[in-house]
Amino acid sequence: MNTPTPQNTSILELRKATMSWPRPGGGRITAVHSLDLAVQAADLGVIRGPSGSGKTTLLLLAGGLLQPHTGSRIGTPRVGFIFQTLELLPYLDVRQNVRLGLTEKGGEDDVEQLLEELGLTERADHRPHQLSTGECQRTATARALASRPALLLADEPTGNLDPENALIVLRALDGLVQRGGAVLVATHGSIEGLNPTRQFTMDSGSLSESGNTP
Ligand code: ADP
Ligand code: MG
Repeated sequence: MNTPTPQNTSILELRKATMSWPRPGGGRITAVHSLDLAVQAADLGVIRGPSGSGKTTLLLLAGGLLQPHTGSRIGTPRVGFIFQTLELLPYLDVRQNVRLGLTEKGGEDDVEQLLEELGLTERADHRPHQLSTGECQRTATARALASRPALLLADEPTGNLDPENALIVLRALDGLVQRGGAVLVATHGSIEGLNPTRQFTMDSGSLSESGNTP
């Protein structure tokens, strides 16, 4: 049997991926249903859908943090993840949290550059509980970028942010796309100031793509 390979220029594909969760009290909730997705380099995709529609589950599947129950994930891009719940380590300061994202290719210069880019230099020695929401979100963004990912998955990255902080985060995501990385952003609302190349809607576990913006 042939091992499936990504088509043409895809860096990642989900094919007919289905994922269900146990429902409290019995049965299962299908969070993602028979989902097909092919991501190419320099895609800037936005996935919109109401809370509970399966966006986080989709990003976890795309990142390989969850295995689909049926269907497959094809491709092995280096993945960066901005978690909806951020998941900063409370006993590390900002600089140390960002350092966690480094791979063998990155160094201290990259950390300092990211701190600068995300406006965190002054806060580098602070721990998460000493930061504002926006600073925490920017730290999680810097950490995700520190691995120089080929695919960055951003789960509600501006969900709780004022416009100024949102812009800093979105500019950083856009910067990765300019360098050839792919970004997928999930949001239950709208994202001002982002010009996606691809737009998706998530509805009760099903993904659809609308026409490309020019
Ligand atoms: P969204 O990110 O769009 O809000 P999620 O992917 O978080 O959607 O959730 C989709 C569905 O799966 C929801 O009904 C949610 O309650 C359920 N779900 C998500 N994660 C879990 C889990 N770990 N255990 C049980 N149910 C879950
Ligand atoms: Mg979610």
